[in-house]
Amino acid sequence: MKPAPAGAADSSKGAEAPAVVVAAHGRRGILARADGSRLPYLIRGRQLRVVCGDRVRFTTATPGAPAVIDRIEPRDNELQRLSGHGGRPETIAANVTHLVVVMAALPQPDLYLTDRYLCAARLMGAAGALAWNKADVAGPPMAGLAPYEALGCPVWPVSAATGDGLPALRAWIGAGTGILVGQSGVGKSSLLNALAPGAGALTGEISLASDEGRHTTTASVLHPLPGGGGLVDTPGVRDFVPAIPERAAISSGFVEVGEFGRQCRFTDCSHLREDHCAVQEAVAAGRIDPRRYESYRRLMNLARQAAGRGY
Ligand code: GDP
Ligand code: ZN
Repeated sequence: MKPAPAGAADSSKGAEAPAVVVAAHGRRGILARADGSRLPYLIRGRQLRVVCGDRVRFTTATPGAPAVIDRIEPRDNELQRLSGHGGRPETIAANVTHLVVVMAALPQPDLYLTDRYLCAARLMGAAGALAWNKADVAGPPMAGLAPYEALGCPVWPVSAATGDGLPALRAWIGAGTGILVGQSGVGKSSLLNALAPGAGALTGEISLASDEGRHTTTASVLHPLPGGGGLVDTPGVRDFVPAIPERAAISSGFVEVGEFGRQCRFTDCSHLREDHCAVQEAVAAGRIDPRRYESYRRLMNLARQAAGRGY
């Protein structure tokens, strides 16, 4: 091991575990240190863009001054959505380990959107699950969700209103970083408040850290969960539509397409029109759910259109 270079008087700071970005709002936000303490940060220069879940190295000039982020540790993954501006992908969170697609009987589920979320989760290396919310009024999950359980994707019946099912969902997230996604009105905010009771308080903390109080509603926040782990939330990600993946990657985002696809004659089989395609044969034989396959087809078409537009 090399001795510390002369002048490394600051080595105690370097030895501290990276802090995690728990609120991000433009160039300001809040860091959580490994010991649980929080401190506001500032970003110097224009080169860094941090998002919730980022692990960062920082320095503080004087006690009580905002931390200055020096660098971002390599990200395990990035959650990307299509931004409103030209439909380009925008990173909204980093190092997400668990993605929960929240659904309910009402608003009516859109299973194609569900499949896009789950595809995005698989491609980024996050575990995916479905939460069937409002079970207090709707009863058990709709029959259309059975294929997901068969594919190994957990389906949690929950009720934000009564708390039923929440311990199982909470245990599944464990010490990880989760995110609740899904259509507007399915109960994501209600579930967040039920799972992370301090959520409102942290939002107040962000207004303190911000110069521009009027912008605080757009801050993204990583809310701590009691007992460890956290849930990412921001108005901008709640109803987000995932970025369209590379065409060649999509088959890995659909677990069953990836599995059967290994037996196709062509290694670059698109599983759409080729002969001797194990995926199309599995659909015909009833071994792949035809609706899931239709989801795959639609996403492949979207990706082709997106590629034609240059992104
Ligand atoms: P979001 O748009 O996904 O964040 O959904 P909200 O959390 O704002 O909830 C939308 C509506 O569904 C609100 O009127 C909630 O009161 C209601 N809601 C949320 N969770 C439940 C639940 O578990 N049971 C019932 N009955 N209603 C719920
Ligand atoms: Zn094929």
